[in-house]
Amino acid sequence: MSRMLAALSDQTLELGPARSAGPEGNWRFAMDTDHVAWLVLDRPGKSVNTIDRSVIEELAGHVERIAERRPTALVIRSAKPSGFAAGADIQQFAGASTAEISAMLEEAHRVLDRLSQLPMRTIAVIHGHCLGAGLELALACDRRIAVPDASLGFPEVMLGLHPGLGGTYRATAIADPLEAMTMMLTGKPATAKKAKVVGLVDAVVEERHVRAAVQAAIRGELEPAGGSFKAQAFSLRPARALMASQMRRKAADKAPKAHYPAPYRLIDLWEEHGGNAKAMQAAEVRSFAELIETETAQNLVRVFFLREAMRGLKQGSSAISRVHVVGAGAMGGDIAAWAAREGFHVTLGDVANEPIGRAMKAATKMLTATLKDPLKIRDALDRLTPDPHGLGIRQADLVIEAAPERIDLKRTIYAAIEPQLKTGALLATNTSALPLEDLAEGLADPSRLVGLHFFNPVSRMQLVEIVRHDRISAETLRRATAFAVKLSRLPAPVSSAPGFLVNRALTPYMAEALIMVDEGIPKERIDRIAESFGMPMGPVELADQVGLDIALEVSASLRQRLDVPFPDSPAWLEKLVAEKKLGRKTGSGLYEYDSDGKPKKQRVEASPEDAKSDPDLLDRMILPMLNAVVACLREGVVEREDIADGAMIFGTGFAPFRGGPIHYARHRGIDEITAKLRALAEKHGPRFTPDAGWDRLKG
Ligand code: NAD
Repeated sequence: MSRMLAALSDQTLELGPARSAGPEGNWRFAMDTDHVAWLVLDRPGKSVNTIDRSVIEELAGHVERIAERRPTALVIRSAKPSGFAAGADIQQFAGASTAEISAMLEEAHRVLDRLSQLPMRTIAVIHGHCLGAGLELALACDRRIAVPDASLGFPEVMLGLHPGLGGTYRATAIADPLEAMTMMLTGKPATAKKAKVVGLVDAVVEERHVRAAVQAAIRGELEPAGGSFKAQAFSLRPARALMASQMRRKAADKAPKAHYPAPYRLIDLWEEHGGNAKAMQAAEVRSFAELIETETAQNLVRVFFLREAMRGLKQGSSAISRVHVVGAGAMGGDIAAWAAREGFHVTLGDVANEPIGRAMKAATKMLTATLKDPLKIRDALDRLTPDPHGLGIRQADLVIEAAPERIDLKRTIYAAIEPQLKTGALLATNTSALPLEDLAEGLADPSRLVGLHFFNPVSRMQLVEIVRHDRISAETLRRATAFAVKLSRLPAPVSSAPGFLVNRALTPYMAEALIMVDEGIPKERIDRIAESFGMPMGPVELADQVGLDIALEVSASLRQRLDVPFPDSPAWLEKLVAEKKLGRKTGSGLYEYDSDGKPKKQRVEASPEDAKSDPDLLDRMILPMLNAVVACLREGVVEREDIADGAMIFGTGFAPFRGGPIHYARHRGIDEITAKLRALAEKHGPRFTPDAGWDRLKG
């Protein structure tokens, strides 16, 4: 019975006779009774297919064999439930020279060209993820059939690259070129439905109809979805030139050319060669091989591996499926909604009903925006239960407290919760600054307490600091870390030191900016300088975003608890807070805010004076941040340099193309930085004194 159900289920992938064919390396190959060849990618020992040299080399052999045997048609698909393929294996590019990369690419192009020139109909069947080189492989087939769960995209731009396996010219020739360019420029994937509309796939069918769709394609009944009409229109250079300049403007809004060259290279490629497959192919290979050598691509690839390293901190399962959140405010509401989105059963409590109502409304909005699919939205909302009486606490495997930042209040809450907890349940706090040791005071079992420090907004900030303290158990730490990864967030283990890692490093950056405002430097200029370094938001705007009350409080607490010189907050800041001008949340703070929550910034023109003083101004903001990260490493607040870099990138948006603060420091030169810090200390005060930890970085 269960086998029959499995056979009927949409989950069973139609693999033709290749289902029972033995693997030959990365591929399974078989002919069906209609003389249709099935070539199925099924990389041994991997849950996800990636495309590397061995996949391409073996594909070359299969393509030759198919060319000789002349089947009626060729079907290519993946046997992995996770999807078609997740893109190229970027590890293979590490350490390779430009010449080696060019040679590798040229060989891969030759194989895909050969595939695309096979005389019989070639059909790619796509489910799940079909990204980067995976999509480029599918594009080398005559037809593409997708199942509804398919997600197609070109994520190369996130690595500082553009497609390199024919994607640039095949996608713009097969699909609507403008849509294809947008996909390549943004890296955003398209659903199967969207891919059909833009012409990247020719049909979308349920899994159970795949075989019929394949047969229709073989009979010649599956027309290309089109888009080629638009490709025709843009085969004229003036038409492309017009669109290209628009694309450049849009790209410039998001990412300056100096820091992110790849989108501009891609636009140039299309403008110059669009419609001329041969020329565009040659230019694509050249451009890709050059891009991969750039500092930006190398650093973004590093960021990719940092993410993997942080995910790799997960050991075993969290054994958590039910979560209760205490406090439905700004953070608790978001944490609860995100956990429900990621498959946990969540109950959400508060002392008042109103915040729960607001949180449920915000959850619907976030889930709708991020999940899009009505069924998934409904299921996630079904997993999120308002729980004003805290009935979920007894069932929960994990209780996350996100109540106001007051130690007495948090302790009272724990005293009420702890007796209700199941055996083995964890208790987590989202505190930003309270010492965990103090919070653990009074708990019957302090070993189950852990800090899960989320960042605002939870749905966009990937980092979670996993805060340990002297009485935590190794098992609590392990499970909390595994939970964060299961939540699709990135864990950074930190000790319960003031500000942990991220706030400790960000606070001096904001504090210095406020001193600069005090010196009369226009705040717009301060923000612009930090943004031009690659920070996602200038420090003045960031202070407004965090809330001036909170910024002031965190500053005061760090000043009090840290044994290092810390800048005083300007008196006018306290005045603003007293007047309830708290920043974005009150519509006014250091900036005034419009109804969309955007700051009203004055245009500040760059002057020649700027150019002279900018390096100093930038270093005054950036170097204290680096200095704090170095101090955290020395003190063991964070143990690994790579995790410190990852935490700063995923928790603050620290310019990803610079590879993280420590990586940036090493690249710029430790001696140069400490000399600069000493010079700044001389000029502006001891808050710039280089931390003793810099010496260890030199070793
Ligand atoms: P908030 O004031 O928005 O929400 C707190 C909620 O807790 C309110 O809805 C309040 O009604 C509720 N509450 C008060 N007493 C309670 C009790 N006894 N039992 C249950 N609920 C109770 O606060 P927030 O900004 O969400 O911050 C919550 C925690 O998260 C704090 O520890 C804060 O330091 C931390 N944090 C905040 C941010 C941020 O950006 N806001 C970021 C990271 C961490």
